[in-house]
Amino acid sequence: MVRSEYRESTAPSNYNYRVYSPELLDHFQNPRNAGQIANPDSRARLENPVCGDILELTLKLEGDRIADIRFRAKGCVPSMACGSAITELAKGQTIEAARQIKREHLLQKVGGLPEASSHAAALAVEVLVLLLRNS
Ligand SMILES: [Zn+2]
Repeated sequence: MVRSEYRESTAPSNYNYRVYSPELLDHFQNPRNAGQIANPDSRARLENPVCGDILELTLKLEGDRIADIRFRAKGCVPSMACGSAITELAKGQTIEAARQIKREHLLQKVGGLPEASSHAAALAVEVLVLLLRNS
């Protein structure tokens, strides 16, 4: 499966998991809406040069509502977790409502991020913006 291929390449053993909130680790360990949608209505993918994270989102619409949204991520623990969390925030929303999803909503969803990991939330929000612009 694509998902396991992506996940195996992440999480070096020297990661200090204690710096992450339980909510963030839960999204990392039990990712929601992982994978990709076949024949999506929109697709967006960005790479973050900070640590080489790659996040891809695919989306399926029903009218103007996000019927399904999935993520594929490769990179650090918080990037994987933010990919998962942002799909949960956006799924079932209208495009208009999903456009209002900001970094602070995502941070709340993952129980906060260490300062050094703020790029992960920024990447997820940027890919969502791009995804909605494409749709
Ligand atoms: Zn990262």
